[in-house]
Amino acid sequence: MIFRGLMTEFRSFVYAVITRRSTGTPSVRMSIPIEFTGYTVPKWAFFTDIEVAGLDNELVARLDTARKVAGVPFRITSGLRTCAANEAAMGVESSSHIKGLAVDLAVSDSVSRFAILKGLIDAGFVRIGVYEKHCHADVDLSKPQKVIWTGISH
Ligand SMILES: [Zn+2]
Repeated sequence: MIFRGLMTEFRSFVYAVITRRSTGTPSVRMSIPIEFTGYTVPKWAFFTDIEVAGLDNELVARLDTARKVAGVPFRITSGLRTCAANEAAMGVESSSHIKGLAVDLAVSDSVSRFAILKGLIDAGFVRIGVYEKHCHADVDLSKPQKVIWTGISH
């Protein structure tokens, strides 16, 4: 049986057979049959539930697609923010991060920046911020659509 998922439950037993050889040295044979009784299929191909905690489903679905297209690691440096965290991150007051509609992705060089941007655009993101150390992407419909802006990472 082939399955993809996180094994959440299994049972195992250890059978041990100890025999004594004619030399007097004990011989131990052990077998460990494992029976899987349950597993959960992860919701996202590239993100754990912890990485995307509190984020909008549509946002994460598009991010998952973008990550597949990009073929480079996506490291979320900022997702859902509290108002205090947003202030500390010098985010704008109406930040989409507060609504769980935005992520910032770390960018290490121009090659990964290109791959990330291609992935985001192919995945249908129409609100993208390009900064020297990160890319912002959001699915906030209350803001202008089909925009790419630039800024300075704080
Ligand atoms: Zn952002």
